Amino acid sequence: RYQSLGYNRVLEIHKEHLSPVVTAYFQKPLLLHQGHMEWLFDAEGNRYLDFFSGIVTVSVGHCHPKVNAVAQKQLGRLWHTSTVFFHPPMHEYAEKLAALLPEPLKVIFLVNSGSEANELAMLMARAHSNNIDIISFRGAYHGGSPYTLGLTNVGTYKMELPGGTGCQPTMCPDVFRGPWGGSHCRDSPVQTIRKCSCAPDCCQAKDQYIEQFKDTLSTSVAKSIAGFFAEPIQGVNGVVQYPKGFLKEAFELVRARGGVCIADEVQTGFGRLGSQFWGFQTHDVLPDIVTMAKGIGNGFPMAAVVTTPEIAKSLAKRLQYFNTFGGNPMACAIGSAVLEVIKEENLQENSQEVGTYMLLKFAKLRDEFEIVGDVRGKGLMIGIEMVQDKMSRRPLPREEVNQIHEDCKHMGLLVGRGGIFSQTFRIAPSMCITKPEVDFATEVFHSALIQHMERRAK
Ligand code: PMP
Repeated sequence: RYQSLGYNRVLEIHKEHLSPVVTAYFQKPLLLHQGHMEWLFDAEGNRYLDFFSGIVTVSVGHCHPKVNAVAQKQLGRLWHTSTVFFHPPMHEYAEKLAALLPEPLKVIFLVNSGSEANELAMLMARAHSNNIDIISFRGAYHGGSPYTLGLTNVGTYKMELPGGTGCQPTMCPDVFRGPWGGSHCRDSPVQTIRKCSCAPDCCQAKDQYIEQFKDTLSTSVAKSIAGFFAEPIQGVNGVVQYPKGFLKEAFELVRARGGVCIADEVQTGFGRLGSQFWGFQTHDVLPDIVTMAKGIGNGFPMAAVVTTPEIAKSLAKRLQYFNTFGGNPMACAIGSAVLEVIKEENLQENSQEVGTYMLLKFAKLRDEFEIVGDVRGKGLMIGIEMVQDKMSRRPLPREEVNQIHEDCKHMGLLVGRGGIFSQTFRIAPSMCITKPEVDFATEVFHSALIQHMERRAK
């Protein structure tokens, strides 16, 4: 029956019964019927190379055979228990996940979504520090629930109601958009082919951003802080990387005021960044709390908060934590299978190798086209920021970016969008992609840019 539901009928049902607030990327939204690894198929049988993996979520490939087999086996055994009962998949999973984190991060809370994980992390930070204020970057996305909306600093998702009290936005150390100029070129493999006019030391402007951070700290309640949330690389804000050493210094400043540091690994975790399994490791910091979701379950709803025994105890003193679905047998069995697949198929290494290959290929487009302002990222989390011209760095108008996006889709490539002006293309495929697929994607992108330049010239 599902297969026979035609496109027009789907549109009618959507308009009548589904949230009008949810927007689709394309003029004609995609009606997907099937997925296999890095490929998606629509109702008419068209094939798309999925370079956004359901918003950075399908970590090991759509319908991965091993994950599917494990899910089917668990489906026939036990679906649900609630946290009041024990079951082996949960304990096996907890042990496997803890082994991937450095000491003393070993107490795991299993929940169902990134927003829920960050809500819990907010509670933990406040329970442990006895403070209220929590800091997050402008442009950050940490969730869409009322409490986490205080941390999410993207206008599109806010409404004119207080989104969780005690949340303080601070300047995002985004060297491309920030007032001090600079680029992401330092320490990046694309450094050598980047046309960067900055002197090497002004490239990062770390000290200026740290001064801004201190300003936010000193204006918080009684100069005390409950916590500081950061994505190791910002996702929704358009793959924004911070100056080298910024997070390390910021963590020290927060801790000196009694706060705890939270790494939101919802997009960056599970090997996506290639060189390390967790994004925080690329900054050489050790957070007090790590939140994870999306790729953890390859698309199955599951999420986790990992913290230290000390912080877990502070929470336990204040509340009895209960969660109906968190840590359910299906999620835990799937989560274990995902971890096994990442290891067995060397997907972290693949992220590193194929991701770096892709970064270098896209960086060539930046050198060829005036409207490609910046190409950045790490592993399989890449951003391509579109500008009117390289000198002004003014964002390319949204309609023009939309058209390039649309053209990529018509040629069989799905990519994502990000940034406050929706000016950045985001690329974060399943970690199983290959170099020939990257070649295809860069060719498609190249053609879309040529088409765009031709339209502009008319
Ligand atoms: N944190 C980050 C970094 C995210 O990108 C997202 C989702 N875009 C969330 C938290 C919230 O996750 P969820 O949609 O599962 O609630």
